[in-house]
Amino acid sequence: MTTEVDVVVVGLGPGGESVATQLAEAGLEVVGVDKHLVGGECPYYACIPSKMIIRAADALAEGRRVPELAGASTVTPDWSPVATRISDEATSGWDDQIAVDRLTDAGVRFVRGHGRLDGARTVVVGDETYVARKGVVLNTGTDPAVPPIDGLDVTPFWTNRDIVKQTSLPGSLIVIGGGPVGAELAQGISRFGTDVTVVEMAPRLLGPEEPEAGSLLGEVFAAEGIQVVSDAKISQVSYAEGRFTVTVDEQGLTADKLLVAAGRRPNLGDIGLDTVGLDPTARVIETDDHLRAGDGLWALGDITGKGAFTHMAMYQGDVVVRDILGQDGPWAEYHAVPRVTFTDPEVGSVGMSEKQARDAGIDVRVGVTDLATSTRGWIHGEGGKGLIKLIEDADRGVLVGACVVGPYGGEVLSSLAIAVHAGVPTATLRSMIWAYPTFHRAIETAVKELDA
Ligand SMILES: Cc1cc2nc3c(=O)[nH]c(=O)nc-3n(C[C@H](O)[C@H](O)[C@H](O)COP(=O)(O)OP(=O)(O)OC[C@H]3O[C@@H](n4cnc5c(N)ncnc54)[C@H](O)[C@@H]3O)c2cc1C
Repeated sequence: MTTEVDVVVVGLGPGGESVATQLAEAGLEVVGVDKHLVGGECPYYACIPSKMIIRAADALAEGRRVPELAGASTVTPDWSPVATRISDEATSGWDDQIAVDRLTDAGVRFVRGHGRLDGARTVVVGDETYVARKGVVLNTGTDPAVPPIDGLDVTPFWTNRDIVKQTSLPGSLIVIGGGPVGAELAQGISRFGTDVTVVEMAPRLLGPEEPEAGSLLGEVFAAEGIQVVSDAKISQVSYAEGRFTVTVDEQGLTADKLLVAAGRRPNLGDIGLDTVGLDPTARVIETDDHLRAGDGLWALGDITGKGAFTHMAMYQGDVVVRDILGQDGPWAEYHAVPRVTFTDPEVGSVGMSEKQARDAGIDVRVGVTDLATSTRGWIHGEGGKGLIKLIEDADRGVLVGACVVGPYGGEVLSSLAIAVHAGVPTATLRSMIWAYPTFHRAIETAVKELDA
């Protein structure tokens, strides 16, 4: 059967759900298609459950800091409140009925199934064909990537989708991947008493971030007893008698469980991209600043390769809505993309890294300050390690990037995100009054270091 509507949204991750809702509320006839859960990865398997783990793990860490600061403490970790919160509060037992109701209440026609393009402005879901007068929006997101390591695919390894469903934790865990997902989960789980080893191919944790950030986090992990094996070449993974063995440079690391956090694989292979002249083997869908990928075709979220973050999908979703409704911009641009790794200390960054800025031919000046030696860092004591790094375009006198590592690093980042986004002159930052004794006051010191 063929049905004509205004817009079909394929994949209802955070951005797709928002687009479908906004367009239906604006009076358009909208079909939203998802093969799994409305809301996508973020609420059920990613951002929300992982941050619930981290919130609990940070409470344990603070409890363990009491003897340094305030007397005696006994910390007895218990995973069950975390498992219950994730299951009951965050995911309703991995049931999306609330999200489906929200969507249909907004006027979206929801179709559960695998959507596939079948030529321009046409989507097939099972026996149904939907023809979209205005066009199709793709938000099909990503799956966990499984690296081609000998033996891995036949072992019962976990991904983020499994670990958030656990009702108890293993005695030991190997994490393949020391990027944001691997680092957050490694520290979170370790703080509950699991013996954790992170195996990372790059020289340090959080590879693409500032080297200072990854190195500092590595020091913190080591002090907490998390083993990080960097520059690792994994030749094989095996599983026997309830134990995983990961062979790294001829040496066998063993653990009860294995978590693979080695990046993401875009869901582009089976959505009919070839029927609209696009390459189904590409890693990303190329889009313009209106998020258009072709005539009557928009794409948003992780599949655009502009940053695999919920806030990116939501930002792009608003652009798509404006374009479809014929409104004015602002249109998409990406010079000030913020990102936060919610480890302790948090690592928040915006814009370019020093390396990216140098590679782009910018005349770079860098200002770095040690957060632990700031007044607030010193007062904070235990758990107060961190740094602020600013990357300035010296010719233009503006920041093009910044990185904050420290307690509430993601929050401290906000003023620097504004500075990079709006191109606030560093001269203006120099003239500001910075509240004492805050963590963000260390930005003033880092600004002064730009001149050093
Ligand atoms: C462990 C972890 C923690 C994270 N933490 C954060 C964080 O703290 N902050 C942050 O900003 N980001 C975080 N992210 C990233 C964030 O989850 C994603 O960027 C976010 O979900 C946006 O993805 P998306 O909208 O592109 O699609 P997704 O969320 O991947 O959703 C895509 C949807 O499309 C559906 N779908 C796919 N193919 C089809 C098809 N052919 N037909 C129908 N439906 C289809 C899927 O079922 C899914 O519902 C984290 C990721 C992970 C893995």
